[in-house]
Amino acid sequence: MILMALRERVCALHAELVRYGLVAWTAGNVSGRVPGEDLFVIKPSGVSYDDLTPGSIVVCDLDGNLVDGDLAPSSDTAAHAYVYRSMPDVGGVVHTHSPYATAWAARGEAIPCVLTAMADEFGGEIPVGPFALIGGDDIGKAIVSTLAGHRSPAVLMRNHGVFAIGKDAAAAVKAAVMCEDVARTVHLARTAGSVEPIAAEDIDRLYDRYQNVYGQR
Ligand SMILES: [Zn+2]
Repeated sequence: MILMALRERVCALHAELVRYGLVAWTAGNVSGRVPGEDLFVIKPSGVSYDDLTPGSIVVCDLDGNLVDGDLAPSSDTAAHAYVYRSMPDVGGVVHTHSPYATAWAARGEAIPCVLTAMADEFGGEIPVGPFALIGGDDIGKAIVSTLAGHRSPAVLMRNHGVFAIGKDAAAAVKAAVMCEDVARTVHLARTAGSVEPIAAEDIDRLYDRYQNVYGQR
């Protein structure tokens, strides 16, 4: 029952990637950890977002092996699996090539924390991770080692795109959406001049308020 609900949720979250303009063709995926199990659900490989159904979302173990489903899992499954193995508090992972954020990744440039919305969500800059080839654990290792030194739930993988994490799949999608939003705004700001940094102590205050006080309790 929990598994079916999670498949429905992760299926619906893929529509958010489309709605916010984070993906072209089939290049983006969402996964969610199955609570209390060494399993996660993820998009099947190469399936159009319009054709995704809850039943087509596949189940994998934390080594990335297919456990349940009729289709092959996403080609990014090994990276998602590595993150779940290494970061027990992570309940959701998202990968996109969203255009503005990926442009920063193509330059190998971290997005500086120059907006209060960035301080709120990311607690500092959005860092750049190293270049890594798809397939084995290289991408997953690079995601985990880069995020370990940052409060940011998103990382710009060099020459590639965005990986975002969260306490659940919805939180990871939110981080991916916010990452693209601030990547765009800071890019626009820089086309017309230099950007103004926010003092480290103000970033700390903003981050603390947003993470611990903001919203409905
Ligand atoms: Zn990719």
